[in-house]
Amino acid sequence: MASGKINVSVENIFPLIKKFLYSDHEIFLRELISNATDATIKLKHLNNIGEAKGDIGDPKIIVKVDKEGKKIHIIDQGIGMTAEEVEKYINQVAFSGAEEFLEKYKDSAKDAGIIGHFGLGFYSAFMVAHQVEIITKSYKDEPAAHWLCDGSPEFNLLPSTKNERGTEIILHIAEDSEEFLDDYRIEELLKKYNRFMPIPIQFGMKKEMIKVGEGEEAKDEEIEVENIINITNPAWTKSPSDLKDEDYQDFYRQLYPMQFESPLFHIHLNVDYPFNLTGILYFPKLSNEIQLQKDKIQLFQNQVFVTDNVEGIVPEFLTMLKGVIDSPDIPLNVSRSYLQADGNVKKISNYITKKVSDKLKSLFTENRTDFENKWNDIKIVLEYGMLSEPKFYEKATDFFLFPTVENQYLTLQELKDKIKENQTDKNNKIIVLYAANKEAQHTYISQAQEKGYVVLLLDSPIVAHLVQKFESDHNDLQFVRVDSDHIDNLIKKGEDEKNNLSEEEQNLLKENIETAIADKSFNIQFQQMDENAIPFIITKPEFMRRMKEMSAYGGGMFGMGNMPDMYNLVVNTKSKLVQQILKNENKESQVLQIKQALDIAKLSQNLLKGEDLTNFVKRSFELIGDK
Ligand code: ADP
Repeated sequence: MASGKINVSVENIFPLIKKFLYSDHEIFLRELISNATDATIKLKHLNNIGEAKGDIGDPKIIVKVDKEGKKIHIIDQGIGMTAEEVEKYINQVAFSGAEEFLEKYKDSAKDAGIIGHFGLGFYSAFMVAHQVEIITKSYKDEPAAHWLCDGSPEFNLLPSTKNERGTEIILHIAEDSEEFLDDYRIEELLKKYNRFMPIPIQFGMKKEMIKVGEGEEAKDEEIEVENIINITNPAWTKSPSDLKDEDYQDFYRQLYPMQFESPLFHIHLNVDYPFNLTGILYFPKLSNEIQLQKDKIQLFQNQVFVTDNVEGIVPEFLTMLKGVIDSPDIPLNVSRSYLQADGNVKKISNYITKKVSDKLKSLFTENRTDFENKWNDIKIVLEYGMLSEPKFYEKATDFFLFPTVENQYLTLQELKDKIKENQTDKNNKIIVLYAANKEAQHTYISQAQEKGYVVLLLDSPIVAHLVQKFESDHNDLQFVRVDSDHIDNLIKKGEDEKNNLSEEEQNLLKENIETAIADKSFNIQFQQMDENAIPFIITKPEFMRRMKEMSAYGGGMFGMGNMPDMYNLVVNTKSKLVQQILKNENKESQVLQIKQALDIAKLSQNLLKGEDLTNFVKRSFELIGDK
């Protein structure tokens, strides 16, 4: 029997470990399973090169909870350690590793931004255990060893009678960590951190139904099988050429068992220089709303789960995607701000952006119809990308689509070519008309269509920012929503525009309208349109509306959220109704005509509410009845 004192300066490492990592105690299991996995992979390697002789079978890792004995056992069938190696690796390497760790992170551990991965290794066992035992037998023909330690620098090292190769770690769970003696808790942790690790992990037994017998005799029978927690060869570790579309779909289900909707397409990431990264990203169906995400991208290191907070690693606009990335080159024990400044992390983020835009481009060129069909489900990601990543913006101009209200999908160039003849203003700017809602803006859309104009359907919440961006990058473009400034004011027409009313008539009409409606938020404009065009129409200036939208979805940088609403009341001076109103000698019926006309215009902008709406309904019924 040997006992001794580990040569370190820290008196008792265990309370320190507890203190610094108070919020992350659960990672002890991940660390110990990682060690067991490493030991098993090492054995397999030695066996392959002929150094570890004989049949090593199919080594697995077994986890057991002994609730009564208040112990957790982690047993592997890996290379094991000789007594000498325990002295070296556990007493010296592991202990000094832990000490170094504490030294390094005792300040930064207070930083709330630290990622919950510390690589503390074996000593993280002392976060949950008041005593730890190691019983281990090396693959070499040497006696087994039994190490015991309570976290203080004193330890005992005894011979052991263990016959089988491998290592058993026994954790005597501390009183304040008894939550870990619960089977469900342990299974939950194994599934969280170790679900895609390469060596099988068994946790107890489970019941399974099998078919026994044949034909008439066949029946279901319940049997007990080993409960294997993990999938040892997840899709992202394989070569893309070995995977079919179904394999990607299957992996998606493994990753998100509660997700019933299939992803639209996937992107396999695979790079080994200048950094190492593998992974699969999926484009899920996304609605226009910015959703609260639960199935997020998961970050792994060598198949060990680290976190599902990939902020700073994956460009923000892509955090709406799903899937996994696995890279040993992402520093995890640093704060977020440091992470974002890290050269490798920047390269990784750029690489992911490039892969995503390449994939989108190839989907667009290879099968445009299919790409168009998916457009509405993916556009929100692309729009965010265009606004937030200059590199993505550059690439996406080739495949970013502008849908029309008639379900045509045009690239920017195609759009320009299509409308540049017919939709320009007096300065030769191309006027891009768009609607945000086909139903609500139906009247305006159909007016524009009657004139042969193309109307786009741009309905996402960030569209104001987006059109602002397009305008600043393309001097020849101006975006105008169909219900903004009246189209006839914008788009130049061949004939000279003269108003059919005399100045006198205009003043009279204006006066009458102003007295009738007594609402100061309308700016009255006269416009000579077609005889049959709508007589009264309400528009909301593009600039005003856009600034309001931008401050609503963009951090209030324009500070216009509280501006009062301003509207234009555009009066078609050529319409029969307006002509009649002008000529009407009966004051009372003239006021009625104007009020009714304004209310109808308001109604079509969804502006008629409350008492005004009630009065309108009443008045309308009266009007259609007998006088
Ligand atoms: P790391 O795994 O990062 O090297 P640890 O502190 O976890 O650091 O472990 C220190 C060393 O102890 C390992 O490098 C390994 O040599 C040895 N070791 C730990 N666990 C096992 C195990 N289950 N089987 C064999 N060796 C082990």
